Amino acid sequence: MAGLDPAVVAEVERETSELLSRLIQIDTSNPPGNETAVAELMAAWFRGHGLEGEIVGEPADRASFVLRLEGRRPGPSLLLLAHEDVVPACAADWQVPPFSGLIKDGYVWGRGAVDIKNLVAANAVAMRRLAAVGAPFDGTVTYACTADEESCTGGGVRWLLEHRPDLMRSDYVLNEGDGAFIPCGDRRLFMLQSGEKGTAQFRLVVHGQAGHASVPLRRGNAVLAAARVVEALAAHELPVVIDESSRVLVEFLVEDAELRDRLRDATQARAALADLADRDPQLATMIEPLYGFAFSPTIVQSNSVAVNVFPTRVVLSVDCRMLAGHDEGEVEDEVRAALDGVDAQWELEWINVIRGNSSPYPTPLSEAIRTVLRRHVPNAELGDTQSVGFTDSHWFRAAYPDVVAYNLDPHFEECHADVWARAHNVDERILVRDLASQAFFAEQVALELLR
Ligand SMILES: [Zn+2]
Repeated sequence: MAGLDPAVVAEVERETSELLSRLIQIDTSNPPGNETAVAELMAAWFRGHGLEGEIVGEPADRASFVLRLEGRRPGPSLLLLAHEDVVPACAADWQVPPFSGLIKDGYVWGRGAVDIKNLVAANAVAMRRLAAVGAPFDGTVTYACTADEESCTGGGVRWLLEHRPDLMRSDYVLNEGDGAFIPCGDRRLFMLQSGEKGTAQFRLVVHGQAGHASVPLRRGNAVLAAARVVEALAAHELPVVIDESSRVLVEFLVEDAELRDRLRDATQARAALADLADRDPQLATMIEPLYGFAFSPTIVQSNSVAVNVFPTRVVLSVDCRMLAGHDEGEVEDEVRAALDGVDAQWELEWINVIRGNSSPYPTPLSEAIRTVLRRHVPNAELGDTQSVGFTDSHWFRAAYPDVVAYNLDPHFEECHADVWARAHNVDERILVRDLASQAFFAEQVALELLR
């Protein structure tokens, strides 16, 4: 870390890695979560440093922890957010026990090490360091580690926004994101996510005629009709959306100028994406979800319980994610267009519809982030995109339309391909140097924003 006393860096490396190790040893696999143990650990850890926060949330075994630190004068507020729960881990597949929190070979190992107990620890150390020097900023910095993110059932952030806006209301939110850099020639590209895609998951109920399967019922078999529906969905050419969310990735990372132009032209982009996938499949999979929505059929269920009986219903479940600014009406129009003329009787039912949302960019928060990144990584570039997954930032934007909520947890040493492959995967681990950098980053962004 540029400009920092090596003894201080060593101290923060020790402090963050010990805390992360203890956090990993608390199994918060969701389901069921059991996050209250993390909230209690953090309350005790802060109390040990003379800082009092609050354990909040329902039910009792799924609590969050929040601590607000007031600066010297009133001013804007920044919330440092991270979730306490993790996805489950199958110990047999790992090199080390996934809830050991082992520190070895320069890494902290275990479930949650990069998603996202690293931030639970790093943000805490940032808060402690800000408090230790007398909170030298104008405004408020809030620390929150929250339950129920990985399979959101309405607790965690959603509960807090509804029941404790006094703790949650903030002008700026800095949350987890896909924050490791992408190498780009001699530069390092950090992608900040200013929005989240929404979902428009639906099922298509395909109707048929019951009957004895020994009599081939070619016209009324719902299974055959459902197969035609799946084929038609897969073959349908969906409209391409070329917006800001894919611009920086294409501009920085596609070297071939001719391919770059085709990727920015909606009439040629699908074919160009196929060409890109031949040359650089990883980059193509990053860009494709930013080109609008796609139909991904995932479950097929027939209501026949016997192999010799034709079903009256076959239900196809389809995953579909929309960019912010788009809605389920567009999805339904495309389903109708795709299935126009297909020999099948069907109806559409929504499973889960959440419209995506986004914050403006650039803002004082993105400029503070850029300044701090460049301080430590001189060749850093900051780009803006949307999260193709889903984070709790969505709920802040839904509750407070004027909030600026961004996702970014930068790793300075290890690149995107290394870090991202470990999230939700075996042998999840974080480089201790990167973990400590995340503490300095949060601290310095707060100071830069609230100067
Ligand atoms: Zn996460």
